[in-house]
Amino acid sequence: MNTIVCLKQVPDTETLIKIAGTTIAAEGIKWVINPYDEFAVEEAIRQKEKMGAGAVTIVSLGPDRAIESIRTALAMGADNAVHINDSGFYDKADPYATAAVLAAAIKGLDFNAIFLGKQAIDDDSGQVPAMLGEMLGIPAVTQVIKFEVAADKSKATVTREIEGGHMVVEVPLPAVFSAQKGLNEPRYASLPGIMKAKKKPVDVKNAAGLGVSDGPMIVIKEMSLPPARQAGKIITGDDAKVKAAALAKALHEEVKII
Ligand SMILES: Cc1cc2nc3c(=O)[nH]c(=O)nc-3n(C[C@H](O)[C@H](O)[C@H](O)COP(=O)(O)OP(=O)(O)OC[C@H]3O[C@@H](n4cnc5c(N)ncnc54)[C@H](O)[C@@H]3O)c2cc1C
Repeated sequence: MNTIVCLKQVPDTETLIKIAGTTIAAEGIKWVINPYDEFAVEEAIRQKEKMGAGAVTIVSLGPDRAIESIRTALAMGADNAVHINDSGFYDKADPYATAAVLAAAIKGLDFNAIFLGKQAIDDDSGQVPAMLGEMLGIPAVTQVIKFEVAADKSKATVTREIEGGHMVVEVPLPAVFSAQKGLNEPRYASLPGIMKAKKKPVDVKNAAGLGVSDGPMIVIKEMSLPPARQAGKIITGDDAKVKAAALAKALHEEVKII
């Protein structure tokens, strides 16, 4: 079973984000694998282990720093990677351009399935998986929480999470799958895995070399943080009844919710 995982490096969820124009200021950020992409990496490795054969290829569009996340995925157990290291393209890419360059990098590769995260937690577009399927002319199944492949690798039976329930679908392979939380429990990279990852091959490409020049169709006009939260109000005193009355008064007159 040969699989491809599209991996995006994003700011760690605990990072205090600052905005610089229409993008996130890069300084002081701890960069990590997009959490949904960790499920994608784990699932690809599990499928390889289950079948006892095949390879997992990581494909990532991102600047120099993305190599750290690529190496982490290789340390988890992926076999090789394609790093589209092209800041000029990445700095202007929208979801369409991103999917176009990923599709171009994937086209020549031999694969049964492509795994992505259901969304990148920084830009939250949730568009790349479906666009990638369309560009490669193969089906795309989103929000996957369970994945099973037929022994002959001709099709997959997949459970999707939907509002208030589950949906089971069957799809011919090759196909694109986007991972939802619950698909698996991603492993940590082991020390031997980290050592081995240093020697695994990473093919470095750029957009022009892949024949892609698509600029953004969507232009970000503005980016802003939510307004700072006001300080909370503490109702003090020893008398519970008086405090409850003060709370009710504040909720009625100041917050206006009762
Ligand atoms: C400097 C900068 C400038 C930008 N300018 C624009 C702009 O002008 N217009 C605009 O619309 N957007 C812009 N973006 C947003 C950026 O292009 C998006 O990150 C990209 O379009 C993908 O959208 P998403 O990250 O929300 O992906 P989603 O569709 O939410 O991602 C779903 C999955 O797709 C895969 N994926 C996504 N991105 C990558 C990647 N780079 N490499 C490998 N796999 C990936 C991952 O598996 C991910 O889990 C900019 C971003 C940066 C950093």
